[in-house]
Amino acid sequence: MAKIIIVLYPDPVGGQPTSYARDSLPVIEKYPNGQTLPTPKATDFQPGTLLGSVSGGLGLVNWLESLGHTVVVTDSKEGADSVLDRELPDADVVISQPFWPAYLTAERLDAAKNLKIAITAGIGSDHVDLPAAIDKGITVAEVTYCNSISVAEHTVMQVLALVRDYIPQYKIVVDGGWNIADSVARSYDLEGMDVGVFGAGRIGSAVLERLAPFDVKLHYSDRYRLPAEVEERLKLTWHDDIRSLVPHLDVLTVHAPLTAETQGLIDDELLSTFRHGSYIVNPARGAIADRDAIVRALESGQLGGYAGDVWFPQPAPADHPWRTMPHHGMTPHTSGTSLSAQSRYAAGVREILENFFEGTPLRDEYIIVQGGGYAGTGAHSYAAKK
Ligand code: NDP
Repeated sequence: MAKIIIVLYPDPVGGQPTSYARDSLPVIEKYPNGQTLPTPKATDFQPGTLLGSVSGGLGLVNWLESLGHTVVVTDSKEGADSVLDRELPDADVVISQPFWPAYLTAERLDAAKNLKIAITAGIGSDHVDLPAAIDKGITVAEVTYCNSISVAEHTVMQVLALVRDYIPQYKIVVDGGWNIADSVARSYDLEGMDVGVFGAGRIGSAVLERLAPFDVKLHYSDRYRLPAEVEERLKLTWHDDIRSLVPHLDVLTVHAPLTAETQGLIDDELLSTFRHGSYIVNPARGAIADRDAIVRALESGQLGGYAGDVWFPQPAPADHPWRTMPHHGMTPHTSGTSLSAQSRYAAGVREILENFFEGTPLRDEYIIVQGGGYAGTGAHSYAAKK
């Protein structure tokens, strides 16, 4: 029997909801690239309910316990006294969401003598020290595509919120005001702007597709070019790298993974090459941007706005400067954990666990690290470009 630690974000302040805004979720058959949604043999949860917090347990707890496994569900993940550190030494499986990441550092992986698989309930396994997992022969898997469209939608929302300056207008209404001049003093149309995507993978491509009808001029940069048919249909302008991309833009959206190559990429020097008053939306990883450089650029007016939902570390401390910097539209890390996304990644984790317990192969697209090396999706996304 296995011991499974599931690290999830805390329950709502008022407790787990007893009713929901909507009765059901739309049925989605396939992802845009034709990949099927998760196919576990069964699920024990109602789609559209809150599964990602501790009491939701990803809808896995009853099933795992009925099989005789030991399950620990916790939000306690930081510091030597954390439940995660206490339970890790004999755990076989750790499941964690990027929204509330269980940072599996090399030291923690050293302590986790029994660990066989680290599963990301979502996408983005940079909270696991992947080289250390490779050294120790630990499998790392994530639920590829489960929340890509969720993040793309959040990105489009934040692009519009920044350019049109929606958030201060909403606040004026809530505060009982009607001052239209204040409301529009920083409000523009997106139409006609140059919008660029850095990292045109699943999320980045979906952002390009969704922004095309706004009659913007679309640009992108990636390690590999998109098919010519896509470039022509969306009228995309390709740029070699982020440095050659940003001087042409009014809006940059960031969708590359956090790697040694992308860490700290958006720094003072790069920001100085943007058009004055540009906007950045970064729902990829907070550490791709230099925290203080973003604050400086907003304060000087070099940036017109910054939004996204990813921070470093997470949860962000109460005094994190991105909470109070001017013209920001940050959310906590929510874009990929809508109720819709939760039901997909809960089902995906169950599928991965079913394979793991049965000793059958995981879907190739879910694998990041396996057999002492990057494999599956990880071989493409996390390994250096060949
Ligand atoms: P994909 O792997 O489909 O896309 C990432 C793209 O970035 C790929 O096209 C990849 O290129 C490209 N890329 C990688 N490194 C570089 C680089 N150095 N320079 C330029 N392009 C690069 O991933 P997703 O679209 O599914 O997700 C992207 C990221 O979004 C995840 O890694 C994760 O960090 C974040 N994410 C955030 C979520 C949230 O809730 N906020 C939820 C889900 C993901 P290629 O493959 O061509 O080599």
